Amino acid sequence: MEGNVSDVLIIGGGASGLFAAARLIKECGRRLDIKILEAGSKPGRKLLLTGSGRCNLSNQNCTVSKYNTDDPDKLEHILGSFSPADSVDFFENDLGVRIVSKGELYYPATYRAATVTDSLRLYVEDSGCEIRSDSRVIKITRSEDLFTAETESGDVFTSRFVILATGGASYPATGSDGKGIHSVDGFVLDDAIVSFAPALVPLTSDKKALRDLAGIRCSCSTKVISEGITEDESEGEVLFTKEGGLSGICILDISSTALKLIDSGKTVSVQLNLMTADTDEVINMLAVRRHIFSVRSCSDAFAGMLDKRILEVLMNDMRIDPQSSVADLKDGRLIQLANALCAWDIPVTGCEGIDNAQVSSGGIKLSALTDGLAVNENTGLYFIGETCNVNGICGGFNLQWAWASAATAARDIAKHV
Ligand SMILES: Cc1cc2nc3c(=O)[nH]c(=O)nc-3n(C[C@H](O)[C@H](O)[C@H](O)COP(=O)(O)OP(=O)(O)OC[C@H]3O[C@@H](n4cnc5c(N)ncnc54)[C@H](O)[C@@H]3O)c2cc1C
Repeated sequence: MEGNVSDVLIIGGGASGLFAAARLIKECGRRLDIKILEAGSKPGRKLLLTGSGRCNLSNQNCTVSKYNTDDPDKLEHILGSFSPADSVDFFENDLGVRIVSKGELYYPATYRAATVTDSLRLYVEDSGCEIRSDSRVIKITRSEDLFTAETESGDVFTSRFVILATGGASYPATGSDGKGIHSVDGFVLDDAIVSFAPALVPLTSDKKALRDLAGIRCSCSTKVISEGITEDESEGEVLFTKEGGLSGICILDISSTALKLIDSGKTVSVQLNLMTADTDEVINMLAVRRHIFSVRSCSDAFAGMLDKRILEVLMNDMRIDPQSSVADLKDGRLIQLANALCAWDIPVTGCEGIDNAQVSSGGIKLSALTDGLAVNENTGLYFIGETCNVNGICGGFNLQWAWASAATAARDIAKHV
């Protein structure tokens, strides 16, 4: 190392930045001088929010089909070179974090995201890597063989390699505001950058009655329907939001498809199968209850099947009075109700915006980067995590990308130092 020149500057101390430092230490030992420059007052603030504070850190079934990107072949190669099993192995055997699986999802055994953040921070600090907080980098330049990174407060750092790990643009309160990738303007062509947009985001609807359902959760299968065609589908929990929209894992997973269609001017609805059953089964369920509970109102007779408030909104939509006697519900109306329970069309108009999106789509195109995630073989500038144009569905896929991309850049740098 010459003077106060670092070997590697990592810009951003989030999931991918911390992991990149840890992998560089693993690959190269203490011989490298690594500095992390983090905009916020502490590293890993978004990581602390993951999995509702429990950190769903990877997924056994991590295939390229779980992601959106411009270069699926390169993504497949990178995911294959650092698999979920490699992540688990590193967390268990190097970082000391016991990992458990819930179905195909991996979590720390403590079910605390802080365990993951602390393990990464302590591992890199133990090895002498400095994490400089309150250091938002605004400009990176290169002269001869050295990079210079300038922070908002005027501090200047130099290094031989730079890893840009400034994240995407979602949840800007965590420090990732999407501006980080512009600190390297001049190193990448404008057409190599896809603008950040919300992905994995609650959808909004102008259907007023949904506001009455705020806070209700329901197991559903969902479809994105546009012009009579099913464009995407998913299954899981739906949450009715206080803004009168739809959230929950299965809505987040289909949100990108719905938003692309809305942006292209199409009319879009999300169709909920509230019973995750087929219509014949539901007709049978309704008919049995009509018979057994014939002295009750429609709302009370069917309340054991589904949250009563959802049932009442649906019945009001169909002009069935929820308080009317179930014995008076004619077969034709019962069949219509069963159809509505299995295919409730909710028009969607947009999303809650990037501030509430779990991840952003966009970033540096993978096709503009080498297999090692550098801008080219000689420059020494790397992009990892959400700075790259890769975003996955819910289930640990985004953090697995953060780990795999960080490990890939670290491996590439280790070959050159
Ligand atoms: C609520 C929520 C829940 C989530 N749950 C999960 C989950 O359970 N599983 C999963 O796989 N994914 C989850 N994600 C997504 C996951 O958190 C992200 O994909 C992941 O954190 C991206 O890692 P990153 O390192 O690219 O970016 P980040 O973790 O956002 O880190 C970027 C860091 O760079 C810093 N920074 C930004 N600009 C600068 C700058 N100019 N100079 C210096 N530093 C800068 C930021 O302060 C930040 O600390 C969730 C996201 C959210 C918001």
